[in-house]
Amino acid sequence: MLKYRVVAFPVQKRLKTKAEGNALFRQIPSVDEILTEFAAALQTRELAQTAGREMTASVIREILAAIRKSARNGAVAESIPNGHEIQAAIARKIQEKLAPSLRPVINATGVVLHTNLGRAPLSANAAGRIAASATRYSNLEYDIAAGARGKRDAHTSAAFAELTGAESAIVVNNNAAAVFLVLNTLAKGAEVVVSRGELIEIGDGFRIPEIMAESGARLREVGTTNRTVIADYERALSHETHLLLRVHPSNFKIVGFTKHPELEELAALGHKKRIPVFEDLGSGCLIDLTSAGVGEPVVRASFVAGADLVTFSGDKLLGGPQAGIIAGKRKFVERIRQNPLFRALRVDKLTIAALEVTLDAYRRGALDEIPSLRMIRMSAQEIHRRASPFADNLRAQLPKGVALEVRAGFSLIGGGSTPGQKVPTTLVAVRSSQYSALELDEKLRKATSHVPVIVRIEKKTLMIDLRTVFEEEEPALAGALAAALA
Ligand SMILES: *Cc1c(COP(=O)(O)O)cnc(C)c1O
Repeated sequence: MLKYRVVAFPVQKRLKTKAEGNALFRQIPSVDEILTEFAAALQTRELAQTAGREMTASVIREILAAIRKSARNGAVAESIPNGHEIQAAIARKIQEKLAPSLRPVINATGVVLHTNLGRAPLSANAAGRIAASATRYSNLEYDIAAGARGKRDAHTSAAFAELTGAESAIVVNNNAAAVFLVLNTLAKGAEVVVSRGELIEIGDGFRIPEIMAESGARLREVGTTNRTVIADYERALSHETHLLLRVHPSNFKIVGFTKHPELEELAALGHKKRIPVFEDLGSGCLIDLTSAGVGEPVVRASFVAGADLVTFSGDKLLGGPQAGIIAGKRKFVERIRQNPLFRALRVDKLTIAALEVTLDAYRRGALDEIPSLRMIRMSAQEIHRRASPFADNLRAQLPKGVALEVRAGFSLIGGGSTPGQKVPTTLVAVRSSQYSALELDEKLRKATSHVPVIVRIEKKTLMIDLRTVFEEEEPALAGALAAALA
């Protein structure tokens, strides 16, 4: 039984006199009174213990402030919460505060490398290795055999050499950092020649001209938006040129009357003039994915073509943790490692642990161990074999007026792979006579009873693409859909 009682507020429309107001406020219990009750009550005891005294008290203060405010504004007595309601409000607020902000969602969009949804999901293997390195000491920068200080990139450099043909490789926070570091190390105060057709923006503020300016390098644009030939680069070279840059146009395509020199030509020019050639490859595919319908250049091909340095992301097509890899000729990589900014941009042991596991899967040819690669390589038929029973089971739980249709469509690779890179999939199209696609989308995101579900809407129809839904998530997804459509 609650000892304090807020139910006894006088029934009134508005506080007319100061005395009335004081009478009302006197009935609002103190923080201590409520706290004692909350910490003792059977239903809330455990929560109070988890939250601790400080958090509980601050939540109570927030709630009391709201009550005082509504009383001051002339709220009627009945709308002021009683003791039980206050206790429930405290519990709700504490639960909200304790709930993690970063939490899992179900990605039913079919966009495999969805930047807003965390790009590449890691394997259980990688997660296990992260946990092992996180909770214990490790040889992160320690050479066990020599009993001396080591380098943190020793854990991944052999694998990168094997998988890409690079002499050496170091790892930084992301590819944006990698590009910045290359420019800052090799071309600060000097010129970098780049085609006007490659002055791109990747999104979220990554623009080549701006990164260049921040790095201290000077941009020397050549050619035109749609056509650049090798003679354009050649004419721009001077004793001020320190780097030839090639940028992979990740998220757009110039079609029609276009021309670009091959990387071979650019590399030949660079080598003739003794100017290093650097390619920002963006996604950084380690293996040929054309058989899966993805025509992204592989890192190895850039070195075969003669690039001296290549940078790429760890969490795009590579399928690993967020990281940026700087790979290439040892003498350049070593200079970059010496840059004091490398120290500011390097990765931690958790990233290295996940990256090593991911690269190991490539070395063993165990591509299906990498979740994003498994998803990308799934055929539309394989997805159909899941979508069809999924739709049948779901249909049985749905009210009249809901139509589910299994149909052919496309998934997007995303994550700044080749523009509009699509692969055939099988979709479950959901239509309700009661709710619009937008309303369903909102219900699926916001329901508190289940994991948020993120979907795609196409032509006012809600689409479920099981390519990006883990099989073990299917029951939760079906439950969420059934609840939203009920
Ligand atoms: C994605 C991308 C980047 C940025 O990579 P992050 O790992 O997201 O920092 C840079 N350049 C290109 C060409 C890209 O596609």
